[in-house]
Amino acid sequence: MAAKPAILAVDDDAPVLRSIERDLRARYGEEYRVLAAGSGPEALEIGRELTRRGDPIALFVVDQRMPVMTGIELLREALPLQPDAKRVLLTAYADTEAAIQAINDVHLDQYLLKPWDPPEERLYPVLDDLLTDWVAGFRPPFEGLRLVSGRWAPRGHGIRDFLTRNQVPYAWHDPDGEEGRRLAGALDGAVDPGTPVVLFEDGRVLRDPTNRELADAIGLSTHAALPFYDLVIVGAGPAGLAAAVYSASEGLKTLLVEREAPGGQAGTTSRIENYLGFPSGLSGSDLARRGLTQARRLGAEILSSQEVAGLRRADRYRTIALDDGAELSCQAVVIATGVTYRQLAVPGAAELAGRGVYYGAATTEAILYRDAPVGVIGSGNSAGQAAVHSARHASRVHLFVRGAGIDATMSAYLVDQIRALDNVELHTLCEITAFDGTDHLERATVRTPDGPLELELAAAFVFIGQAPRTAWLGDAVARDGGGFILTGSDVGAAHGWNLDRDPFLLESSLPGVFAAGDVRHRSVKRIASAVGEGAMAIQFVHRYLADL
Ligand SMILES: Cc1cc2nc3c(=O)[nH]c(=O)nc-3n(C[C@H](O)[C@H](O)[C@H](O)COP(=O)(O)OP(=O)(O)OC[C@H]3O[C@@H](n4cnc5c(N)ncnc54)[C@H](O)[C@@H]3O)c2cc1C
Repeated sequence: MAAKPAILAVDDDAPVLRSIERDLRARYGEEYRVLAAGSGPEALEIGRELTRRGDPIALFVVDQRMPVMTGIELLREALPLQPDAKRVLLTAYADTEAAIQAINDVHLDQYLLKPWDPPEERLYPVLDDLLTDWVAGFRPPFEGLRLVSGRWAPRGHGIRDFLTRNQVPYAWHDPDGEEGRRLAGALDGAVDPGTPVVLFEDGRVLRDPTNRELADAIGLSTHAALPFYDLVIVGAGPAGLAAAVYSASEGLKTLLVEREAPGGQAGTTSRIENYLGFPSGLSGSDLARRGLTQARRLGAEILSSQEVAGLRRADRYRTIALDDGAELSCQAVVIATGVTYRQLAVPGAAELAGRGVYYGAATTEAILYRDAPVGVIGSGNSAGQAAVHSARHASRVHLFVRGAGIDATMSAYLVDQIRALDNVELHTLCEITAFDGTDHLERATVRTPDGPLELELAAAFVFIGQAPRTAWLGDAVARDGGGFILTGSDVGAAHGWNLDRDPFLLESSLPGVFAAGDVRHRSVKRIASAVGEGAMAIQFVHRYLADL
């Protein structure tokens, strides 16, 4: 049986160590092994031993002021051993500056001021939150759902991405590996590397499933419970999730429809540093999971793996067509379908997509490229985050940008992090001209100011801009030349608006249909603004419904 995950407390002051150990045992002893160490070196020894045995550490709670090795020095050394463990520093008031610095340096999750009494108020809420996040991202080695597929199978990548983004724990096995062969044997024969097989704990087996088949098998809801809703929200990114939270909490019968996985683009982000209220940052999957839980708890119904394919007016109602042919009626609609990645149009990119060339999948795939050279293409924040995230696993990260630098295009905190990483190499004034490889990406050709350069790359993560997901709307609402939805004062008679009142701020050219987040013409492409617009849209939905 797998060992319980560990919580490791470290303090050189014996009475303080005993007291933190006691408080941790009292709350977490049933589910975690609480271990204690009296110094940094002793803690590292325990960390190495657990890592050798393959036992996970969920949480480090470490005093900053220790002789021999400070808490921050210890966390820095422990980081490569257990990169997914949560890290908490116990500090005195005077150490606050050092702790804030450590948020960047050693990915510190929280710092707590000593003493932490009463623990029910000053210790447990913080640790509960961190451990919930850790559990959500933890994949127990030999339990749960298993996926057997070739490493380079594009559909295998699609399933990994779908499971990760829907927060479904799984273990992935290559059919040529020991465990993959054993599972193939249990399935009465070899597994074709290009045809993924998903095995469930209860013995069910799905061969080459679609996302919808997977969603059904996992128990995600794929069919609407009602024929009619007050509000249908299309897209469960930050804007859609926020709209669902406010709509459901304000008593509207709400359906949220998502084609892929909750969280949208934000769900693919390894670290969000600029979202208010999370001083240590949080991962996109944590934000998505929290938003989804909140929307569900407040009463929103959520359909997964269902794509909205059309929208039309039916007198005073609006009809939403799903791509499986079903139709839903509602009073109002919020479109929050965001944007999607632009594809790189160079030789080899299409053939190797999902076989080493990935669009926005750095959080899912980067871990598979341990000790290999990878490339990140793009100069915006998403490329910067992917470079920082990949640097934790890859031997070398080549960051390719077309401009002369990244200072003007990337947030300063990311530029600083990238500069501090020894294994990230910035290539400026460069463009990828080709990808090459037999059945997976092996190398890229790059145009540089000094002539063409050929580089070995095991993976390339591409972030070169985005386009709105609005083709499905046809002429139902007015869009700008780039496909973004016009709203509020941008909508006029020329777009078919013929009501006595002006359109509400986020209202499209079709009354009662609102747009929020990145999909909207001239929106600010940020998580906080998408959340803000999702929340605001509900105010206008209420005003629209009041006039009906
Ligand atoms: C890698 C990366 C890192 C980023 N980092 C940051 C950051 O640190 N800070 C920050 O502020 N911003 C960041 N951003 C930008 C931020 O994520 C976006 O601004 C935000 O996610 C926009 O939210 P949204 O809800 O409008 O759209 P999206 O997040 O794009 O969500 C739209 C959702 O709609 C779904 N959908 C689309 N079409 C349909 C359909 N027809 N039917 C059903 N569902 C559909 C999609 O699957 C998706 O889930 C980052 C973006 C990326 C790509």
